[in-house]
Amino acid sequence: MTTAELTIFEALESNVRGYCRAWPTLFDTAQGAWLRDGSGREYLDFFAGAGALNYGHNNPVLKQALLDYIARDGITHGLDMSTVAKRELLEAIERILLDPRGLDYKVQFPGPTGANAVESALKLARKITGRTTILNFTNAFHGMTLGALSVTGNAAKRAGAGVPLVHVNPMPYDGYVEGADFGWMERVLDDNSSGVDKPAAVIVETVQGEGGVNVARHEWLRALAGLCAARGILLIVDDVQMGCGRTGPFFSFETAGITPDIVTLSKSISGYGMPLALVLMRRELDQWAPGEHNGTFRGNNPAFVTAKVSLEHFWTDRKLEESTLLKGERIRESFGALADSHAGITTRGRGLVQGLSFEDASQASKVCRIAFEKGLIVETSGAEDQVVKLLPPLTITDDELDHGLKILTDAVHTIRE
Ligand code: PMP
Repeated sequence: MTTAELTIFEALESNVRGYCRAWPTLFDTAQGAWLRDGSGREYLDFFAGAGALNYGHNNPVLKQALLDYIARDGITHGLDMSTVAKRELLEAIERILLDPRGLDYKVQFPGPTGANAVESALKLARKITGRTTILNFTNAFHGMTLGALSVTGNAAKRAGAGVPLVHVNPMPYDGYVEGADFGWMERVLDDNSSGVDKPAAVIVETVQGEGGVNVARHEWLRALAGLCAARGILLIVDDVQMGCGRTGPFFSFETAGITPDIVTLSKSISGYGMPLALVLMRRELDQWAPGEHNGTFRGNNPAFVTAKVSLEHFWTDRKLEESTLLKGERIRESFGALADSHAGITTRGRGLVQGLSFEDASQASKVCRIAFEKGLIVETSGAEDQVVKLLPPLTITDDELDHGLKILTDAVHTIRE
């Protein structure tokens, strides 16, 4: 790839561009776990659209469904009209919720992105409770719009925007702050003279993805759910990145045995990398008035089609969950060996979100750069970008996984020589 072919990006596209700077090539096509650039060079993709491509690029089953839909002139843009594609998606969601999960949620289409779902969840919680404060967590990430950014626990990301706009009370996140518990928050909330307003809701990720793969213990999540239930605070689980099977089960909170009041989903819900977001809310919490939350792009019907097929195709049996957990173990073995042979490296993760954390943060980006040169796309996360985060497609083969892990292992050995 010549640098001349990239000139227009530097000249014309805003400086706000992020990831792409570490990948100086002109990508063209993609299939499964592989990206190809204009010169035909292939890259194994361990980033998968930041978790938006759980079933891989151009998944053939989803692609065929999309081609068929377009061939019959299916509606592409449908506002919030009732359409055949939306009806079929709602039926598939109902099935996923009920069997075997026994969940009873209503479904809202809040707009195309994860941040739209978060905004909507926050607004709904405030409307229902008549309260304003949101409890959030250190190191959390919930999106880049002003409300979602306000509940994001990363000062660097918030600084440029002048938020919080929403009044927040951050709490230490399990897996990020050693021994985080809720005793102190319970005391503050129960003390009428504390000056802390009773919150409308808590927003939490079960594993912090952008925050550096911080994994909350199930018992900690249960304690949080207990704190909310005892005090009438709504529990919002932001499953935008960890949902759709990333940690194993379809919803990441399933194994913790908690039932959130509100759930946000996006990224891999369309299955094909197309913008789609959902808010799920306990039936009695659907207190929206018609039109109270709207937006032009809530009716992405082609995304409804691929979402429906991915829900049916991937989630009618449990095989994908099992294989996700097994592949996660494969990564953990490989990462474990690295942590054993190099001081200052630790590992963590759940299912197919796994992190390799470096005491010296600069080493994480060096590993990613060397990996790119060897044909592997992988990104950093965490407050200091100190964690190499793996989010491969759930459909990746063991051979592909081993190939990428070998590149990563060699890269770590290279920088630690
Ligand atoms: N919530 C979580 C947990 C996320 O990881 C992200 C995106 N990384 C968002 C919300 C925001 O989603 P989007 O970028 O689609 O607005």
